Amino acid sequence: MTVYQHPTFDMAAHQFDLVADHLDIPVNDRDRLKFPKRALTVAIPVRRDDGSVRVFAGYRVQHHLTLGPTKGGVRYHPDVCLGDVAALAMWMSWKCALMNLPYGGAKGGVAVDPRQLSLGELERLTRRYTQELIPFIGPQIDIPAPDLGTNEQTMAWMMDTYSTQTGHCVPGVVTGKPVGIGGSLGRREATGRGVGYLIGRAFETLAIQQSGSTAVIQGFGNVGSHAAFSLAKHGVKVIAVSDFQGGVHNPAGLDLRALDQHVTAQRTVQGFAGGEPIDNANLLELPCDVLVPAAMERQITGENAGRLRCRVLAEGANGPTTPEADVILAERPEIFVIPDILCNAGGVVVSYFEWVQDLQSFFWSESEVMDRLFRLLEGAFQQTLQASRKQRIPMRLAALSIGVKRVWEARRARGLFP
Ligand code: GLU
Repeated sequence: MTVYQHPTFDMAAHQFDLVADHLDIPVNDRDRLKFPKRALTVAIPVRRDDGSVRVFAGYRVQHHLTLGPTKGGVRYHPDVCLGDVAALAMWMSWKCALMNLPYGGAKGGVAVDPRQLSLGELERLTRRYTQELIPFIGPQIDIPAPDLGTNEQTMAWMMDTYSTQTGHCVPGVVTGKPVGIGGSLGRREATGRGVGYLIGRAFETLAIQQSGSTAVIQGFGNVGSHAAFSLAKHGVKVIAVSDFQGGVHNPAGLDLRALDQHVTAQRTVQGFAGGEPIDNANLLELPCDVLVPAAMERQITGENAGRLRCRVLAEGANGPTTPEADVILAERPEIFVIPDILCNAGGVVVSYFEWVQDLQSFFWSESEVMDRLFRLLEGAFQQTLQASRKQRIPMRLAALSIGVKRVWEARRARGLFP
């Protein structure tokens, strides 16, 4: 099973082993739960604007098929590879199960830097990737969504390519689409707002006043930016924000509207005049009430976990904290961790709502979407917190255990193969 060998897959597998030990899962059931059910690698030839042809590597991994179709994002990033996508698919499985969604986990991606392609090149890449995936995806098979480097436009191209092939409009094949073609109100903001909601709940649990508290956010993409706005609405001061190029810091609080305008114009937070420059490593160690890693995997490591100075660690990204860091955090009970599969679940929850709306051709108002989202997040937050307190285990182990157990029990009910 070395085809998935990758530091991120090793990390997800290690987390799973800890859960399997905790739940006392028999050896015969472990590999079946851990390794993906299906994985596809495709070559995507794209004609560049200058007439040359470049072939990109694309992937889609479906982790388990026990509870329904598989669900998860599509990532465009130069580091995308099979092992990385497989790890992200495994996390999607536990996330969907924790949220009680009728899905297995999936993830896909293309090894490409989307910033280096023109809009036309991106469209051709997306359409060719989708074409290659046609036998592998579908509203009852596997439903892609946006992730790092992809957005509503990417989903519109995917939906159109699939629909053209089918001969009729199939909005339920992807989620995170523009609202005008079967997308859901609130989907774009869902992950960030969910992060904001759960931070509010963590603060209540710890008796921290939101108003006047401070937040540091790594990543100012779809998740980080909406989390920032949602926190600001509750009076939280966002004092530092970064992206892959660098960050800005202002202890008095950043002007988020001005920052957003700067990012729209410059495509980076770097150079924003309303704060001092700060690099990503130093940003993570700033004193604050809540630290939100909302960028990439493996940012909080055995090396820097001991130096975090936050009260709450709210994992907007997937897999931002390594198992070595978890060992250190377990010795630092003053830091309350909202683990990724709970913290960033708002996105896939509203994706589920979008899929349901598409299948029924019956669309909800934004307040219906948000109400239902917060209700589901509240339930999962309480279950996780209760399990963590009752069993005296870290929040991550509690959340993962709830998710893994649901899949394990469903597998036992169904039999050996799904
Ligand atoms: N890419 C998001 C995630 O990691 C959303 C997936 C989805 O909506 O299917 O949770």
